[in-house]
Amino acid sequence: MSVPRRNPGELEIDLFCSGVRIDPSCTLKDDARAISRTRAGLGSGLELVIPGDLKDLWLNVPVEEDFAAASPYTIHRTDAGYEVRDARNAERYPVRVPQEPGWYRGRTSKGTLMKEVGVLQGTYLGIYVSNSCMYWYRDNPENCKFCTTGYNVGVNEVAVKDIDDVVEVAARAKAESGVTFVHFNTGDQNGKGLRQIAPYVKAVKERVGALIGVQAVPPATDAGLWEYDWLRDLGADHFSFCYEFHDPDVFAKLLPGKQRTVGQRAFFRAMEYCQSKMPKGACSGEIIAGVEPVDVTLRAIDYITGVGAFPTVCIFRPVVGSDMEHVPSPRYDDMVTVMRHMYVACRKAGIPIGAAPNIEVSLIVNPDDAQYLVPRTFGFQLDRLWLKTVKALATPKFAYEMKPRKVKGRLEAAEEHDRAARAAGMTV
Ligand code: SF4
Repeated sequence: MSVPRRNPGELEIDLFCSGVRIDPSCTLKDDARAISRTRAGLGSGLELVIPGDLKDLWLNVPVEEDFAAASPYTIHRTDAGYEVRDARNAERYPVRVPQEPGWYRGRTSKGTLMKEVGVLQGTYLGIYVSNSCMYWYRDNPENCKFCTTGYNVGVNEVAVKDIDDVVEVAARAKAESGVTFVHFNTGDQNGKGLRQIAPYVKAVKERVGALIGVQAVPPATDAGLWEYDWLRDLGADHFSFCYEFHDPDVFAKLLPGKQRTVGQRAFFRAMEYCQSKMPKGACSGEIIAGVEPVDVTLRAIDYITGVGAFPTVCIFRPVVGSDMEHVPSPRYDDMVTVMRHMYVACRKAGIPIGAAPNIEVSLIVNPDDAQYLVPRTFGFQLDRLWLKTVKALATPKFAYEMKPRKVKGRLEAAEEHDRAARAAGMTV
């Protein structure tokens, strides 16, 4: 059966599933962001933008993995720019190749290469703040099976990020790349991940001004949930909860470190706690699609949107060097089903997707990317109008967050909390 021409949303999904081969006509070394293997390694592909009438789509297309070598898609450079060609039907799709920002090659005042502090993933700045994930450092490593962080941090990235370096990089990224969102992430830090991120949140909020996201392994018990309130007082606007797999058995098998240290319920409790105190859509549940059966992933999406959070759904990538590198890439049809469901579930739950300014995450299919997967009915147009109105109403709040401002939270509050807890005979 011949493959029909893809619309932008379908093309995004197909490229995530199939990868792309690079034609010799390309001069990506000069034109593109270098392929960088940082953090879990999921961004280790080629950053592209697919233009579309509803919105442009940012994606990080696999190029290094084995399955990409067999992709029907090839990227070519022509006189008019870059295009992706599909060998199955001779269709051609114009794409943009975002340039590497000039500041990547800059150095901070302490001499650190800026791209070793943080990198753009789509339009946001991603910073892995601290020494690598402790799940890797055991006699029998307990790393998440899809991840390659243990091979990247300290090799392709600075292992411990200096706060002044981070502030300088965030300021340059904001000024020169229009970054509005800085995302701080850390793997397992023996239960101290949120605390390690805290000083960076405060520094960037006060000295740069940006929307700030935080992701860390959540506290093992409810007694630690206050740290999220503390981080909000320090300037965090968003929390993401990377529980990856909804089936508890799959979670336990593929995320052995998370299973041993906190368990899947800890992610649910933390997400429910934070989202109950924050505006709808301020939190997200991160999952990987294409490993579990589709109906389980659909249940995950329903759970996350039911909490009032938005789903960030990553299409599984068998990253080179990971324990799962030989697991097949997901099927296109399955991923269309998942992403369409994601869009519909967000709309049903009234999650204001796409409201924040200029946040395009290239590692996932953003919830509003999936609007290309539904019919353009009258209801669809009404939804678009509602989202546009929400976006306009939220503009002053986002503008406020983009200005450097003094935060009400104090870093010392964590020590004070611990002292009070010890005095009350509690373990901290
Ligand atoms: S928590 Fe899992 S995904 Fe995150 S860095 Fe550690 S091993 Fe990788």
